[in-house]
Amino acid sequence: MVIYEGKAVFEGVAIGKISVYAKNEQSVKRVKVDDTAAEIDRYAKAREKAIDQLKALYEKAVKEVGEASAEIFEAHQLMVDDEDYIESVENIIESEEVNAEYAVAVTGDNFAKMFSEMEEEYFRGRAADIKDITERILNALSGEGADGIVSDEPVIVVADDLAPSETVQMDKDMILSFVTVHGSANSHTSILAKTMSIPAIIGCPIPLSDEVNGKLAIVDGYEGKIYVEPDEDILAAKKKLLLEEEEKKNLLERLKGKENVTLDGQKINLYANIGNTKDLGLVLKNDAGGIGLFRSEFIYLGSDNYPTEDEQFAIYKQVAQTLAGKKVIIRTLDIGADKQADYFELPKEENPAMGLRAIRICLTRPEVFKTQLRAILRASAFGKISIMFPMIISVDEVKKIKSIVEEVKKELDADGLAYDKDIELGIMIETPAAVMIADELAEEVDFFSVGTNDLTQYTLAIDRQNQSLDEFYDSHHPAIMRMLKMIADDAHRHGAWAGICGELGADLSLTKEFLAMRYDELSVSPGRILPIRKTVLETNVSEYKKSKQ
Ligand code: PEP
Ligand code: MG
Repeated sequence: MVIYEGKAVFEGVAIGKISVYAKNEQSVKRVKVDDTAAEIDRYAKAREKAIDQLKALYEKAVKEVGEASAEIFEAHQLMVDDEDYIESVENIIESEEVNAEYAVAVTGDNFAKMFSEMEEEYFRGRAADIKDITERILNALSGEGADGIVSDEPVIVVADDLAPSETVQMDKDMILSFVTVHGSANSHTSILAKTMSIPAIIGCPIPLSDEVNGKLAIVDGYEGKIYVEPDEDILAAKKKLLLEEEEKKNLLERLKGKENVTLDGQKINLYANIGNTKDLGLVLKNDAGGIGLFRSEFIYLGSDNYPTEDEQFAIYKQVAQTLAGKKVIIRTLDIGADKQADYFELPKEENPAMGLRAIRICLTRPEVFKTQLRAILRASAFGKISIMFPMIISVDEVKKIKSIVEEVKKELDADGLAYDKDIELGIMIETPAAVMIADELAEEVDFFSVGTNDLTQYTLAIDRQNQSLDEFYDSHHPAIMRMLKMIADDAHRHGAWAGICGELGADLSLTKEFLAMRYDELSVSPGRILPIRKTVLETNVSEYKKSKQ
């Protein structure tokens, strides 16, 4: 048995085999070969394997996201079989007497470069596809799974770190736990683990090799430890813990259907945060009162090109219909910083967290913004949708946004398309600037939702992605607590309601405090709803306030 320790970001116990996540990056070596025919044969087999994977992905995507979004996997099959590409690879193998990997990598680079230099935007966009299929063939040549997890049973995913664009492609049913060498407590890997309610450990110095790959392990998300090839005593003890957890979950089940009301009658809405439609099952299972944050950028991250209005409309409509009249707050595109999609071709920046991201992209690329707004507004005819805008810093921005929303509404009227004329508009409060002018902002919108992840990052000047700063990252910093109070007070004084959708909203040690500040809503990972409901039901707010005096 070997034990590795890191920082736990979600509690719980998972027992299963480890799958070391193979990054979709290959460092390809040029190797001289004698038998070029054998290399050409290896290349042909890798192509077949890639095509099989793409067919399977196509089937899966049709079921999960529909025909239109799945088409990309058909297009990729054609690219793998492209004659010019194949000729180039075979020619390099034969003329230079080199390995197939090298020939594929060189061809991929050449073709991607050729496409990216083309005039028409459509062809430039194909460069990313070339890179994708090249990686896939390289993975097939090296025997790795293209999505990085090679298993037919649920596994503990061990990785260096995971980008949102990588996690979005993973089959969530196959993941028991995440353990990463890097990543910070506030990164999107941690958020994903919380959404899925699975134990996760970050900053764990575990080798990413066959030393652990495929071996039985236990992740203890209370201790922040992973036990590889555990001995019998440990295995028995952890299996017992797993059973106890199941019992706790069963107890919480009894709280389903209950109202979130304190002993002295104060009510609060408990909503769920989601990243895509696959999370909807968790929303219903955990009895959420609505969706308080739909991180719509994950639609963009899961796509190789700008999702069209109709593709987005289908997704938003599905969410609105599934929630059947309960509130669904869709946050507009929050891309940039750690959430990158290549086709946006965002400029390289020194400080991306303080760069061109979120609403700034939408305001500088109004066509992208308007496409999303049209899709959301059209879907609002099928349920109770609200729109929320991220990274706001000024009243002027909000006024600009509102006038764009009005323009889009007029266009829809002209097209005779239905939408909710009274749709609620809200903003995220996640910059210190927005906190300081919350009174003026509240006059402009229907609601606030506090993004404590970014608000803490920008207030404490601590990069939320930087794991080495976790010891300085005090999520309960008095500055944040005072800001939270200011935000709720300003909202209420100026006619808006206030919620929290950052990770702090799920902190059970603060639930009473948020009630005392009179927050109207907390939006949290679905698995957190019932534990918070339990605290709400056990709280007497006036007594809590007295106890603090
Ligand atoms: C936040 O910043 O708290 C938030 C909810 O948004 P995200 O984590 O997606 O940046
Ligand atoms: Mg944020």
